[in-house]
Amino acid sequence: MATEDGLATAFLAALAGQPTDRIEMQHPAGQLLIEAVVPDAEQEEAIQSRLNDAAGVILVTGHIDEAGLESLRRLRQRLPANRKLPQAHALHREQGRAEFKLSCPSCGQKLWVGDAQEGRPGRCPGCRQTFLIPSQARHLAASLQLDDDVPIRVQFRGDTATAVALVHELAARLAARISEMESRQKNMTMRIVIDGDAAKWPDTRPH
Ligand SMILES: [Zn+2]
Repeated sequence: MATEDGLATAFLAALAGQPTDRIEMQHPAGQLLIEAVVPDAEQEEAIQSRLNDAAGVILVTGHIDEAGLESLRRLRQRLPANRKLPQAHALHREQGRAEFKLSCPSCGQKLWVGDAQEGRPGRCPGCRQTFLIPSQARHLAASLQLDDDVPIRVQFRGDTATAVALVHELAARLAARISEMESRQKNMTMRIVIDGDAAKWPDTRPH
């Protein structure tokens, strides 16, 4: 799912090597089917049912200014809350662009920030306040209060290696969740089921 038109399909295109809105991939965890879900008011129900069926979600964001983060928050609200769906984040960047869009923490002014400025103090031309320029991933994780282990990667348009790496990180989380569920089930004390006619068995209940 993506915050802007065309970003989800751009991510899939990087995986497939050609424009597509769905792709199947082999992974040690099993067969993965990845589909682009484009929020559309007219297909609200269909979209929601696909999200309810999903095992995990990749959220693609263009800019991490306030507007971008707000659309990302709205997307995340649509995820089924009861299942804590494993998620991964792709920060989409146009080829050759070494900067990203951020909002000033004091006044909200939209600012272009260079990768090379990460970790350095910058001054907002709007309100003259200085602030430490965060990395894109760290800023996203802090703004959305993501768990530390949620994969976040900057992905340039057409960058297959990063897209594949992100899918593998998400798939590893899915696999871990499945084996966790299996072991939780084994640790549960379950009532045994006996097939056939119970009366044939010696009655060992106390009389
Ligand atoms: Zn400012």
